[in-house]
Amino acid sequence: MIQYKTSEEVQLIKKSADILGKAHGEVAKHIKEGVKTSFLDKIAEEFIRDHHGVPSFKGYNGFPSSLCISVNEVVVHGFPSDYELKDGDIISVDCGVFHQGFHSDSAYTYPIGEVSPSVIALLKATRDSLYLGIEQAVAGNRIGDIGHAIQKFVEAKGYTVVRELVGHGLGKKLHEAPEVPNYGKKGSGVPLKAGMVIAIEPMINLGTRNIVQERDGWTIRTADRKPSAHYEHTVAIFENKTEVLTTHKYIEESFKF
Ligand code: MG
Ligand code: MG
Repeated sequence: MIQYKTSEEVQLIKKSADILGKAHGEVAKHIKEGVKTSFLDKIAEEFIRDHHGVPSFKGYNGFPSSLCISVNEVVVHGFPSDYELKDGDIISVDCGVFHQGFHSDSAYTYPIGEVSPSVIALLKATRDSLYLGIEQAVAGNRIGDIGHAIQKFVEAKGYTVVRELVGHGLGKKLHEAPEVPNYGKKGSGVPLKAGMVIAIEPMINLGTRNIVQERDGWTIRTADRKPSAHYEHTVAIFENKTEVLTTHKYIEESFKF
């Protein structure tokens, strides 16, 4: 069942999202060659707790960390570890914050050092597809309009859309109805209405769309081990507008590509 939010509840999610945006900004300052991904997790957790939030992911169904860190062919749900970032890697940092009863959720994929032009193009297209999806997330449209816009754009560039993992509603819970696929038919699916808060999160692959789950029960990687990109925002739908509640502003102030 979809939990429609009051405008007061949306304001609370926005406060949570503000902490999240700044936590991403702190992490971004440390994203470079030679850094252990577990260090990034520590930065995020400390920032969130210092701002009276709780990392949404830590302990979620047993997930061990505050960030999902997904490097290169890992699509999502990778664990922070002793792995040191190296020149030519890409790294997706996904984070959620729980604050005053409400979750927010966003993700960003970074290139490390010299990344091949074809992979940079994948990152940029995935980031662009997120905003094309958001443009469709308006009252009166349907869920399928979001996925259709994302799928059409990235497939025209030769990329593929992961099917098994999707965006989601969120609020008092990290994952609520409805599911928000990154593929779909125009005019299909659940109607979008004022009060809905959803996370839109395209996961786009350079090669096959097929994925594999590692034996750790979490890490999802591409079946062909080619790179995958992931960007995410939490958005709120109002009668006459849609507001992006999370922000990549603090990331993009210190990290440009
Ligand atoms: Mg996320
Ligand atoms: Mg999410």
